[in-house]
Amino acid sequence: MVKLLFQEDSYLKEFDAVVTRVSGNKVFLDQTAFHPGPSGGLDTDKGWLVLPTGDRVEVVQALEEGGDVAHVLARAVNLKPGDRVRGVIDWERRYRMMKLHTASHVLAAVLYKKYGALVTGGHIQPEEAKDDFDLSGVEDWKAAFQQAVEETNRIIGGCLEVKVYWLSRDEALKIPGIVKLAGRLPPEVEKLRIVEIPGVDVQADGGPHVKNTCEIGGIVLKKLESKGAKRKRIYYSLKE
Ligand SMILES: [Zn+2]
Repeated sequence: MVKLLFQEDSYLKEFDAVVTRVSGNKVFLDQTAFHPGPSGGLDTDKGWLVLPTGDRVEVVQALEEGGDVAHVLARAVNLKPGDRVRGVIDWERRYRMMKLHTASHVLAAVLYKKYGALVTGGHIQPEEAKDDFDLSGVEDWKAAFQQAVEETNRIIGGCLEVKVYWLSRDEALKIPGIVKLAGRLPPEVEKLRIVEIPGVDVQADGGPHVKNTCEIGGIVLKKLESKGAKRKRIYYSLKE
């Protein structure tokens, strides 16, 4: 089983690993800092693998595949199990997604608290995030989004520390608001990774986040769309 290094340290930019399997231009490793995607609402990490020869080959996608992570390379390479490689994350891309991802937690918490609105979809890319919410029953949903973005920026500006810890399934299920999420996880999962923004949000979540909300800087509302009664969509990006 591949060790997901980003779950312990979301700020790891380079790592050493041993090749476990090669299939065409897909390379599998004993551990990785590449967050696979699209998964957990986030797009894939990109970056490079440095081969034993010193060659640097682009990782165009990290793909979740049967509980493992396939590092899809721009070209097939001469690697075999047991070879040592160095992984390098495209940090600019990843860090933008970490900021937008953490902001999405705050935005979802604000809309849940005020309207009971649940997230019905979403995708985060480095340049822009989009989230769908069930805002049925909220007449002026556009104003609701605008106010929620203001509130999100106010909370982000409070420099809250984002906590990451592991809980047993039983302990996690006792946290109000987490039940629905945890209930959807496969029964074989014994330990849940919990991401908590104290006083704002607590979720079972496997993805990378920033350590402090002040790193985000703030978000800017880009566009609003209605995709149906239960899917009101907001597009937002980082404040530059
Ligand atoms: Zn998250």
